[in-house]
Amino acid sequence: MTYTELENKVIDYLKDFYEAKEARSIQRFLFASITKLEPAAYLLIRKDEAGTDVVASVLQAVTQLAEYKPIQYVVGKTWFCGFEFSVRPGVLIPRPETELLVQKIVEKYNAKEKLKLLDVGTGSGAIAVSLGLMMDTPDITAIDISSIALAIAGENAELNHTHINFMELDILNKAAWNKLHKFNLIVSNPPYVKQSERKLMKRNVLDFEPETALFVEDADPLIFYRSIAEFATLHLETEGELWFEINEEEGKNISSLLFEKGFCKVQIYTDLNNKDRFVSAIKYIDN
Ligand code: GLN
Repeated sequence: MTYTELENKVIDYLKDFYEAKEARSIQRFLFASITKLEPAAYLLIRKDEAGTDVVASVLQAVTQLAEYKPIQYVVGKTWFCGFEFSVRPGVLIPRPETELLVQKIVEKYNAKEKLKLLDVGTGSGAIAVSLGLMMDTPDITAIDISSIALAIAGENAELNHTHINFMELDILNKAAWNKLHKFNLIVSNPPYVKQSERKLMKRNVLDFEPETALFVEDADPLIFYRSIAEFATLHLETEGELWFEINEEEGKNISSLLFEKGFCKVQIYTDLNNKDRFVSAIKYIDN
Protein backbone atom coordinates (compact mmCIF):
# COMPACT_ATOMS: atom_id res chain seq x y z
CA MET A 1 0.00 0.00 0.00
CA THR A 2 1.31 3.48 -0.88
CA TYR A 3 1.28 6.40 1.56
CA THR A 4 -1.47 8.05 -0.51
CA GLU A 5 -3.63 4.92 -0.30
CA LEU A 6 -2.97 4.72 3.44
CA GLU A 7 -3.93 8.40 3.81
CA ASN A 8 -7.25 7.74 2.07
CA LYS A 9 -7.98 4.74 4.28
CA VAL A 10 -7.34 6.81 7.40
CA ILE A 11 -9.55 9.68 6.20
CA ASP A 12 -12.28 7.25 5.26
CA TYR A 13 -12.16 5.66 8.70
CA LEU A 14 -11.96 8.93 10.67
CA LYS A 15 -14.84 10.58 8.87
CA ASP A 16 -17.28 8.63 11.04
CA PHE A 17 -15.80 10.29 14.11
CA TYR A 18 -14.62 13.72 12.99
CA GLU A 19 -15.65 16.45 10.56
CA ALA A 20 -13.89 16.22 7.18
CA LYS A 21 -11.55 19.16 7.82
CA GLU A 22 -10.54 17.90 11.24
CA ALA A 23 -10.05 14.34 9.94
CA ARG A 24 -7.66 15.70 7.29
CA SER A 25 -5.66 17.74 9.78
CA ILE A 26 -5.45 14.78 12.21
CA GLN A 27 -4.25 12.53 9.37
CA ARG A 28 -1.54 15.08 8.41
CA PHE A 29 -0.39 15.42 12.02
CA LEU A 30 -0.24 11.62 12.33
CA PHE A 31 1.73 11.06 9.13
CA ALA A 32 4.16 13.89 9.89
CA SER A 33 4.78 12.38 13.28
CA ILE A 34 5.19 8.78 12.07
CA THR A 35 7.39 9.60 9.06
CA LYS A 36 9.19 12.39 10.95
CA LEU A 37 9.05 14.41 7.73
CA GLU A 38 8.22 18.06 7.10
CA PRO A 39 5.30 18.53 4.64
CA ALA A 40 7.59 19.30 1.66
CA ALA A 41 9.75 16.22 2.24
CA TYR A 42 6.71 14.03 2.82
CA LEU A 43 5.26 15.03 -0.59
CA LEU A 44 8.31 13.44 -2.24
CA ILE A 45 7.60 9.98 -0.76
CA ARG A 46 3.80 10.11 -0.93
CA LYS A 47 3.58 7.74 -3.92
CA ASP A 48 6.03 5.24 -2.38
CA GLU A 49 5.07 2.02 -0.66
CA ALA A 50 4.55 2.46 3.09
CA GLY A 51 6.46 -0.17 5.10
CA THR A 52 4.60 -2.68 7.28
CA ASP A 53 5.87 -0.89 10.39
CA VAL A 54 4.32 2.38 9.18
CA VAL A 55 1.01 0.65 8.43
CA ALA A 56 1.03 -0.99 11.88
CA SER A 57 1.71 2.35 13.64
CA VAL A 58 -1.06 4.04 11.67
CA LEU A 59 -3.55 1.28 12.53
CA GLN A 60 -2.69 1.45 16.20
CA ALA A 61 -3.13 5.23 16.20
CA VAL A 62 -6.42 5.13 14.33
CA THR A 63 -8.00 2.82 16.94
CA GLN A 64 -7.18 5.38 19.63
CA LEU A 65 -8.41 8.26 17.49
CA ALA A 66 -11.75 6.46 17.15
CA GLU A 67 -12.02 6.69 20.94
CA TYR A 68 -11.57 10.47 20.61
CA LYS A 69 -8.12 10.43 22.15
CA PRO A 70 -6.47 13.70 21.05
CA ILE A 71 -3.92 13.15 18.28
CA GLN A 72 -1.23 14.86 20.37
CA TYR A 73 -1.64 12.23 23.12
CA VAL A 74 -1.76 9.43 20.52
CA VAL A 75 1.63 10.39 19.10
CA GLY A 76 2.89 11.69 22.46
CA LYS A 77 3.96 15.08 21.22
CA THR A 78 2.96 18.44 19.87
CA TRP A 79 4.53 21.64 18.60
CA PHE A 80 4.34 24.95 20.41
CA CYS A 81 6.02 28.14 19.12
CA GLY A 82 7.86 25.88 16.67
CA PHE A 83 9.38 23.68 19.40
CA GLU A 84 8.59 20.04 20.10
CA PHE A 85 6.91 19.10 23.39
CA SER A 86 6.07 15.71 24.87
CA VAL A 87 2.47 15.48 26.02
CA ARG A 88 0.56 12.71 27.78
CA PRO A 89 -2.76 12.57 29.63
CA GLY A 90 -1.87 14.39 32.84
CA VAL A 91 -0.90 17.65 31.14
CA LEU A 92 -3.04 19.96 29.09
CA ILE A 93 -2.16 20.01 25.40
CA PRO A 94 -0.77 23.50 24.74
CA ARG A 95 -3.20 25.58 22.68
CA PRO A 96 -2.37 27.84 19.71
CA GLU A 97 -3.77 30.95 21.48
CA THR A 98 -1.17 30.52 24.20
CA GLU A 99 1.53 30.87 21.52
CA LEU A 100 0.26 34.42 21.07
CA LEU A 101 0.77 35.11 24.78
CA VAL A 102 4.39 33.95 24.49
CA GLN A 103 4.91 36.06 21.35
CA LYS A 104 3.58 39.19 23.06
CA ILE A 105 5.90 38.72 26.02
CA VAL A 106 8.92 38.07 23.78
CA GLU A 107 8.19 41.15 21.61
CA LYS A 108 7.91 43.34 24.66
CA TYR A 109 10.90 42.12 26.64
CA ASN A 110 13.51 40.72 24.37
CA ALA A 111 15.71 43.78 24.38
CA LYS A 112 15.80 44.01 28.17
CA GLU A 113 18.39 42.75 30.61
CA LYS A 114 18.26 39.29 32.20
CA LEU A 115 14.77 38.86 33.63
CA LYS A 116 13.55 36.73 36.51
CA LEU A 117 10.42 35.00 35.34
CA LEU A 118 7.78 32.83 37.01
CA ASP A 119 5.29 30.59 35.19
CA VAL A 120 2.39 29.59 37.46
CA GLY A 121 0.71 26.28 36.54
CA THR A 122 3.28 25.36 33.93
CA GLY A 123 1.66 22.07 32.82
CA SER A 124 3.73 20.72 29.91
CA GLY A 125 6.15 23.61 30.39
CA ALA A 126 5.17 25.08 27.03
CA ILE A 127 5.22 28.74 28.15
CA ALA A 128 8.30 28.48 30.36
CA VAL A 129 10.41 26.45 27.91
CA SER A 130 9.46 28.60 24.90
CA LEU A 131 10.28 31.81 26.78
CA GLY A 132 13.57 30.23 27.79
CA LEU A 133 14.35 29.55 24.14
CA MET A 134 13.06 32.81 22.69
CA MET A 135 14.36 35.35 25.21
CA ASP A 136 17.84 36.44 26.07
CA THR A 137 18.96 34.18 28.94
CA PRO A 138 16.12 34.72 31.38
CA ASP A 139 16.14 33.09 34.80
CA ILE A 140 12.94 31.02 34.79
CA THR A 141 11.06 29.32 37.59
CA ALA A 142 7.99 27.20 36.79
CA ILE A 143 5.57 25.83 39.36
CA ASP A 144 2.68 23.40 39.24
CA ILE A 145 0.51 21.57 41.76
CA SER A 146 0.85 18.33 39.75
CA SER A 147 3.96 16.16 40.04
CA ILE A 148 2.97 14.38 36.79
CA ALA A 149 2.91 17.71 34.97
CA LEU A 150 6.28 18.67 36.44
CA ALA A 151 7.84 15.39 35.30
CA ILE A 152 6.63 16.01 31.75
CA ALA A 153 7.68 19.69 31.87
CA GLY A 154 11.11 18.53 33.03
CA GLU A 155 11.35 16.21 30.01
CA ASN A 156 10.41 19.12 27.78
CA ALA A 157 13.06 21.41 29.22
CA GLU A 158 15.62 18.68 28.59
CA LEU A 159 14.30 17.89 25.10
CA ASN A 160 14.71 21.57 24.22
CA HIS A 161 17.98 22.09 26.10
CA THR A 162 16.68 24.86 28.38
CA HIS A 163 17.25 25.31 32.07
CA ILE A 164 14.13 25.91 34.17
CA ASN A 165 13.84 25.78 37.98
CA PHE A 166 10.84 23.56 38.58
CA MET A 167 9.00 23.47 41.88
CA GLU A 168 5.93 21.56 43.05
CA LEU A 169 3.73 24.23 44.59
CA ASP A 170 0.04 25.08 44.93
CA ILE A 171 -0.35 28.82 44.33
CA LEU A 172 -3.61 28.79 46.31
CA ASN A 173 -1.61 27.79 49.40
CA LYS A 174 -0.38 31.13 50.77
CA ALA A 175 1.82 29.40 53.33
CA ALA A 176 4.01 28.13 50.47
CA TRP A 177 4.58 31.54 48.87
CA ASN A 178 7.73 32.23 50.88
CA LYS A 179 9.46 29.36 49.03
CA LEU A 180 9.59 31.74 46.06
CA HIS A 181 11.63 34.93 45.70
CA LYS A 182 10.90 38.06 43.65
CA PHE A 183 10.37 38.20 39.90
CA ASN A 184 10.28 40.80 37.11
CA LEU A 185 7.55 38.96 35.27
CA ILE A 186 4.86 36.52 36.32
CA VAL A 187 2.94 34.67 33.63
CA SER A 188 0.08 32.22 33.98
CA ASN A 189 -2.49 30.32 31.97
CA PRO A 190 -4.44 28.99 34.95
CA PRO A 191 -7.61 26.87 34.87
CA TYR A 192 -10.42 29.17 33.68
CA VAL A 193 -13.16 27.08 32.07
CA LYS A 194 -16.33 27.28 34.17
CA GLN A 195 -18.05 24.00 35.05
CA SER A 196 -21.16 25.41 33.31
CA GLU A 197 -19.12 25.65 30.07
CA ARG A 198 -18.51 21.87 30.04
CA LYS A 199 -21.43 21.34 27.72
CA LEU A 200 -19.69 23.41 25.04
CA MET A 201 -16.60 21.21 25.08
CA LYS A 202 -15.68 18.24 22.95
CA ARG A 203 -15.26 14.63 24.03
CA ASN A 204 -11.57 14.59 23.21
CA VAL A 205 -10.99 17.33 25.80
CA LEU A 206 -13.47 16.11 28.43
CA ASP A 207 -12.51 12.41 28.27
CA PHE A 208 -8.75 12.82 28.17
CA GLU A 209 -7.40 16.16 29.41
CA PRO A 210 -6.76 16.83 33.12
CA GLU A 211 -9.72 18.43 34.88
CA THR A 212 -7.54 20.28 37.37
CA ALA A 213 -5.81 22.12 34.53
CA LEU A 214 -9.08 23.23 32.95
CA PHE A 215 -11.97 23.82 35.30
CA VAL A 216 -13.00 26.26 37.98
CA GLU A 217 -16.25 26.48 39.95
CA ASP A 218 -18.84 28.93 38.62
CA ALA A 219 -19.13 30.35 42.14
CA ASP A 220 -15.53 31.62 41.98
CA PRO A 221 -14.12 31.55 38.44
CA LEU A 222 -11.31 34.00 39.28
CA ILE A 223 -9.92 32.03 42.20
CA PHE A 224 -6.50 31.59 40.53
CA TYR A 225 -6.32 35.17 39.21
CA ARG A 226 -7.03 36.61 42.68
CA SER A 227 -4.44 34.41 44.30
CA ILE A 228 -1.76 35.06 41.67
CA ALA A 229 -2.45 38.83 41.78
CA GLU A 230 -2.08 38.80 45.59
CA PHE A 231 1.09 36.78 45.27
CA ALA A 232 2.33 39.30 42.68
CA THR A 233 1.75 42.29 44.98
CA LEU A 234 4.38 40.68 47.24
CA HIS A 235 6.60 38.85 44.75
CA LEU A 236 6.89 41.20 41.77
CA GLU A 237 9.70 43.74 41.67
CA THR A 238 8.59 47.36 41.20
CA GLU A 239 7.68 47.86 37.53
CA GLY A 240 7.34 44.10 37.20
CA GLU A 241 4.54 42.77 35.03
CA LEU A 242 1.82 40.21 35.31
CA TRP A 243 0.61 38.41 32.17
CA PHE A 244 -2.44 36.16 32.06
CA GLU A 245 -4.37 34.06 29.59
CA ILE A 246 -8.06 34.48 30.46
CA ASN A 247 -11.57 33.21 29.87
CA GLU A 248 -13.03 35.38 27.11
CA GLU A 249 -15.98 36.34 29.34
CA GLU A 250 -13.87 37.53 32.24
CA GLY A 251 -11.76 40.37 30.78
CA LYS A 252 -13.63 43.16 32.60
CA ASN A 253 -13.80 41.27 35.90
CA ILE A 254 -10.10 40.41 35.84
CA SER A 255 -9.20 44.01 34.97
CA SER A 256 -11.26 45.30 37.94
CA LEU A 257 -9.64 42.73 40.19
CA LEU A 258 -6.17 43.88 39.11
CA PHE A 259 -7.00 47.58 39.63
CA GLU A 260 -8.38 46.75 43.07
CA LYS A 261 -5.14 44.99 43.98
CA GLY A 262 -3.24 48.15 43.01
CA PHE A 263 -1.89 47.20 39.58
CA CYS A 264 -1.58 49.88 36.87
CA LYS A 265 -1.77 49.96 33.07
CA VAL A 266 -4.12 47.01 32.95
CA GLN A 267 -4.53 46.02 29.32
CA ILE A 268 -6.74 43.42 27.61
CA TYR A 269 -5.66 41.78 24.33
CA THR A 270 -7.71 39.68 21.92
CA ASP A 271 -6.79 36.34 20.32
CA LEU A 272 -6.99 35.43 16.62
CA ASN A 273 -10.76 34.91 16.96
CA ASN A 274 -11.13 38.42 18.35
CA LYS A 275 -12.00 37.16 21.83
CA ASP A 276 -10.59 38.81 24.98
CA ARG A 277 -7.84 36.31 25.78
CA PHE A 278 -4.93 37.98 27.59
CA VAL A 279 -4.43 40.61 30.26
CA SER A 280 -1.26 42.37 31.34
CA ALA A 281 -0.70 44.70 34.29
CA ILE A 282 2.20 46.53 35.90
CA LYS A 283 3.06 46.86 39.57
CA TYR A 284 4.40 50.30 40.59
CA ILE A 285 3.88 50.37 44.33
CA ASP A 286 6.21 48.21 46.36
CA ASN A 287 4.77 46.21 49.24
N1 GLN B 1 -8.12 27.27 26.33
C1 GLN B 1 -8.30 26.01 26.97
C2 GLN B 1 -9.53 25.31 26.40
O1 GLN B 1 -10.32 25.93 25.75
C3 GLN B 1 -8.41 26.21 28.46
C4 GLN B 1 -7.13 26.55 29.08
C5 GLN B 1 -7.26 26.89 30.51
O2 GLN B 1 -8.21 26.54 31.21
N2 GLN B 1 -6.30 27.55 30.97
O3 GLN B 1 -9.70 24.12 26.57
